[in-house]
Amino acid sequence: MTPEKIAYFKDRLLQELQRLKQQIQDLGEESPTEPGHFNVRYPESMSNSEDDNAAEITEYSDEQSIMARIQDELKDVEDALKAVDNGTYGVCKYCKAEIDEKRLEARPASSSCIKCKKLFTQEL
Ligand SMILES: [Zn+2]
Repeated sequence: MTPEKIAYFKDRLLQELQRLKQQIQDLGEESPTEPGHFNVRYPESMSNSEDDNAAEITEYSDEQSIMARIQDELKDVEDALKAVDNGTYGVCKYCKAEIDEKRLEARPASSSCIKCKKLFTQEL
């Protein structure tokens, strides 16, 4: 991959990093005991009816799964940025082949080629 391409993807990754961090802050707050770990803010209720509480619990668990997904994505982006610094960006972590640029274009944080991704996760 050319240095220009790498700089371009690094830029995309940094934007992605900002966007994910913003989403995490919107959704929760940093744990006072575990820096870097974000907890979903528990919804505060004005009413104490049981229906409202049930709805809040559902919302809370939805937000927790969204939060977990965003944190996974954030970790992928951070790993990809580390790879940029180490000069290994765009190389499949399993088979060491170069990852297709179209794949990186669609998802700059990709760390495996399509073949390995399918092999290891059964995803498309
Ligand atoms: Zn591979």
